Amino acid sequence: MLITQAPKGTQDVLPSQSGRWQDVEAKMRETCHLAGFREVRTPVFEHTELFLRSVGDTTDVVQKEMYTFLDKGGRSVTLKPEGTAGVARAFLEAHLEAGALPMKMYYISNPVFRYEKPQSGRYREHHQLGIEVFGAKDASCDAEGIRLALDVLEACGISGLKVSINSIGCPDCRTAYLEKLREFLHPKLSKLCETCRDRFERNPLRILDCKVPSCQAELTDAPDMLGNLDEDCAAHFEALKSSLAALGVDFSVDPRIVRGLDYYTRTVFEFVSETESGPLTVCGGGRYDGLVKQLGGPELPGFGFGMGVERVLMVQDMMGVRPAEAPVADVFLAALPGARLEAMKLLRALREAGIPSDMDHAARSLKAQFKYADRLGAPYLAVVGGDELARGALKLRDMRLSAEEEIAVSEFIPVILKKLAEKEGAGV
Ligand code: ATP
Ligand code: MG
Repeated sequence: MLITQAPKGTQDVLPSQSGRWQDVEAKMRETCHLAGFREVRTPVFEHTELFLRSVGDTTDVVQKEMYTFLDKGGRSVTLKPEGTAGVARAFLEAHLEAGALPMKMYYISNPVFRYEKPQSGRYREHHQLGIEVFGAKDASCDAEGIRLALDVLEACGISGLKVSINSIGCPDCRTAYLEKLREFLHPKLSKLCETCRDRFERNPLRILDCKVPSCQAELTDAPDMLGNLDEDCAAHFEALKSSLAALGVDFSVDPRIVRGLDYYTRTVFEFVSETESGPLTVCGGGRYDGLVKQLGGPELPGFGFGMGVERVLMVQDMMGVRPAEAPVADVFLAALPGARLEAMKLLRALREAGIPSDMDHAARSLKAQFKYADRLGAPYLAVVGGDELARGALKLRDMRLSAEEEIAVSEFIPVILKKLAEKEGAGV
């Protein structure tokens, strides 16, 4: 183990990258704000029991992927493997069900931990943006959430993802369907992959979206949940389709989509991007009408989605979307020997005027300070000191034009503000 190497499956967001994250996060905030959602933040770890009860102890996530450990008090805790359970727990703990419903919440760059095999787009710590709505039973809510996720992606410059929807019914109609599915699968068991054989008893629905081609080949004639929905679930699915159409969402129905977590009912959906290394799910979610009750709360419907930030950035890269990078500083003050205090006062004034600015803290040569300012991408550099300062003036250099002019110290801030405003106006 090398201590200067991050743990397998984790990634740093370095200063050169964080602007892109903030950009995606800002798009999420703006979109959610417009739609009446407010932010919620929950702890990084929860009691393990919470995930057993919500995500489900037969799921891949709970069986294989959780970071679970005993804390020093001997309690079993788990780093969150998804965003919904913690929000549902917080909602119940604060008795938000007694307040105005539906309660519409979003979360941003929530760290999610899964012990998965690291590969492209698959990490052991990743981050999700998402929403949770509690207390809205109608399909218009599902459509609003799907539209919102698309709006976030579109604001991030991403379009053309494949939107697939399905219904996995409610526990009533699903139980009957699962029997049919098991009957269909039973004679084929020996031809399925090991994971699917394992899923047969505990989670047969999950076999439907197995990525192994030989399993997919066996499933061609598998019975569909859609053909086995009860009346209410079928009506909900019809309403979902017409609501999506009303909101201008292009979608296709894919009866093979199921979700990896137990709490889903009725609507499930996915946004998929085709990449060189195969399909990549950027966002997934659905309805979970049983979850709140399952956690000991009242019977209250829920809907939500999770969107992987790392995957949004991957798709942006693939599509050549590069949000404009702002310079680290708009003005760099290069102080000559003896003028450091004067430069610091000017720096304070610049920042008070809202102008991103910086100066040297290592008494470097003027040449080295120029070079540093250039690397920061600063469009302006002001030399503080020497004869100019003695005259109450500064030398201001336009770094792109390599042009210099002398300006009075008293005029410094207004001149800079004017130049920056002109630059912005010209879109430079
Ligand atoms: P997948 O089918 O790719 O394993 P999932 O069904 O496990 O996805 P969800 O639990 O729905 O995914 O999580 C929501 C979103 O979080 C996914 O659509 C994806 O964008 C992202 N995501 C899930 N697991 C990872 C991971 N290990 N690394 C990076 N992003 C992930
Ligand atoms: Mg997964």
